Amino acid sequence: MKTAMMALLFVASLAQAHVPSLESFNTKPILADLKDLRALNIPVMAKDEFAEVGYAVVTPKMQQRIQEYAHANGKCGGFEDLSQEAQNLTGGFDALLGNLASLKQKNELYDRAPFRALATQKNEALASAITEINVDNMKATVQWLSSYPDRNNRSAQPNVHVEDMKKKLEAMLASSTLPYEVSLVSHTSTKQKSVRVRLTGSEKPNEIVVLGGHLDSINMGWGSGNKAPGADDNASGSANLLEALRIVSQKVQPKRTVDFFWYAGEESGLLGSAEIAKQYKAQNADVVAVLQLDMTLFPGSGELVIGSMTDFTSAWLRDYLKAANETYIGARIVEDKCGYGCSDHASWHRQGYPAIMPFEARMNDSNPNIHSARDLVSKDSNFNHSVAYTKIALVFAMDLANSTARQPY
Ligand SMILES: [Zn+2]
Repeated sequence: MKTAMMALLFVASLAQAHVPSLESFNTKPILADLKDLRALNIPVMAKDEFAEVGYAVVTPKMQQRIQEYAHANGKCGGFEDLSQEAQNLTGGFDALLGNLASLKQKNELYDRAPFRALATQKNEALASAITEINVDNMKATVQWLSSYPDRNNRSAQPNVHVEDMKKKLEAMLASSTLPYEVSLVSHTSTKQKSVRVRLTGSEKPNEIVVLGGHLDSINMGWGSGNKAPGADDNASGSANLLEALRIVSQKVQPKRTVDFFWYAGEESGLLGSAEIAKQYKAQNADVVAVLQLDMTLFPGSGELVIGSMTDFTSAWLRDYLKAANETYIGARIVEDKCGYGCSDHASWHRQGYPAIMPFEARMNDSNPNIHSARDLVSKDSNFNHSVAYTKIALVFAMDLANSTARQPY
């Protein structure tokens, strides 16, 4: 009996020693496009066919394959890292995936509803602000950001450019008479920090319009000391936001609060935006709209042809973009899909906030040089094209943030 007990204990301790823990294999739970996971033969542990999203636990090798596959298909990101919340998900993965499916259904139902005109009456203050966009400022910002060896969240010093960005913002905003606040946001999933500028609203400070893009960059051969200038991906979107903020900060205080974000660690699984969106949700923040700018410099489908992503975005905001385009921008908008987690808007969408992602081209026509040392300002960089995205940012900050419009579902 005693021997049997000891044998049992021995077996139990052996079993314990061999229980695969997440740490021992350095695996991580993620959400990704179901088609991508299947194409790569990565075991899908939970899924929703309608939402086209799968949950998987991936090794570093698998993660790299997803990143390479997403990259080959023109995407910037490609998955969302769930490490921070997988342990204590209320309702589990079925609830999480079911929620994404119900959001998709709501957006599809709205698509079939009558079109509601928005932004069709020209606001002269906004139209005049648009004429103040300075292409040279945008160029200088992209040149500056792409001059860092990399802006990778896993590099030894992941915050050098982040601190510099904060200083730049403080210097730029010093002449503003608006109430503003520049802050660095720390994260638990990465040492890299996000940057936030808040312009507090005059009448409805609790209603928030978010404008964001990721500040980090990556070289697919990460870890090997390869340079990651990330001019298009995503110094370009970062520059659109900076230029829009420069103009807005010299205007009348917006009625709603406007939060500008330069996110950390997007390339490693939407790390910064996922934590921020989750935190806003936990605080019950009333985010009325989220604009995501990620890659705006390469006009792969033609100059002033904007790819508007229809998956994991708000049908209402896509309509708003079309209306604002007629009134203020004059680009051509083509709809496309990019799969779950292609950029930071997915983080906000998953928390139930209306988001939109106007992209530089159709997905298949996007810049082939991203995630490499070749993502530099070159003859293919088109700042006239990129200006359209600064205009979109101004529309969000000066029209939507001064309106009472909100998603009707
Ligand atoms: Zn990007």
